[in-house]
Amino acid sequence: MAYPRHPERGPGVDQRVVFLMSLTIGLAVALTGALWALADGSAAKGPRGAAPTALHVLESPETVVEMPSPATSLPPVMLHVTPVADPCAQEAVQQALAAGSDEAVVAAFGGGAAFRSAVSAGNAPCIDLADPRREWAVVNKSRPLNPLDFAPAAFGDPALVVDDAGSLRADVAPALDQLSAAADAAGVGRIALASGYRSYATQVQTYSSQIQQYGQAQGDALSARPGFSEHQTGLAADVVSCAGGCGDIDSFGGTSAGEWVAANGWQYGFVVRYVAGQSAVTGYDPEPWHLRYVGPALAAAYHDGGFATLEQFFGLSAAPAYLG
Ligand SMILES: [Zn+2]
Repeated sequence: MAYPRHPERGPGVDQRVVFLMSLTIGLAVALTGALWALADGSAAKGPRGAAPTALHVLESPETVVEMPSPATSLPPVMLHVTPVADPCAQEAVQQALAAGSDEAVVAAFGGGAAFRSAVSAGNAPCIDLADPRREWAVVNKSRPLNPLDFAPAAFGDPALVVDDAGSLRADVAPALDQLSAAADAAGVGRIALASGYRSYATQVQTYSSQIQQYGQAQGDALSARPGFSEHQTGLAADVVSCAGGCGDIDSFGGTSAGEWVAANGWQYGFVVRYVAGQSAVTGYDPEPWHLRYVGPALAAAYHDGGFATLEQFFGLSAAPAYLG
């Protein structure tokens, strides 16, 4: 059986190859010589190829001029291939991500501060800040939920709610209960949920009625557009103080419970999402009552690092307004 063969090279081709090789070697020799000459400081010093040595030139009996030692080799080429540890490559991170255990993911990164710095440095490709199922999800006026009609998989009701507050994500409800109990133990009264999860459909209704009533600009200021509300993640809780009777959200910031929550909420996994002086970043006026659950580890890093917005925490762009 005949196999296809490459055409034989003729002698002319071989000669050209030899010529090119000779030329290459010749150029290399010439270049090396030139480098040696440069390294010596003068093409006239010593025979080419001789091992160079430091020279001491005696100009006068009193003066000894020390000449720089010529280079004996070319500097090494730096390739800048220093390996950067990828936290996402760790098995513990991958397992925790697959199991949906956000706290375990953060722990596997080395804690909240390590997680934050890896994510904000762009060194955590497995962490998606747009994933609304995660404690680290960031939703704002330029970062809608994806999908737009997202809903959490499971819900839970806090022990203390006012009116038709709705629910929270299943693991966030007990965290709010802990916060409430701790506030009560600290003497500022209990904390109740006034508004939790809001579905996409609810938000469509709320938003369109606000727009109808007040117009686009004021409607946007009063209510998030459907698919852009943190409440749709199940991670946001509007809370009120229940010392004696329960107050309303507008008065919460001025209560001792409001102050206590701002100072201590992080210990239970909550941060105050919209604080004074940050409207240009968050796109919202201050809302002392709007708590956002990020989990205890991230909340501790947020508190310890003195952060005021999630955007700043994760190194994201400010979102002062809707893009369209
Ligand atoms: Zn809210």
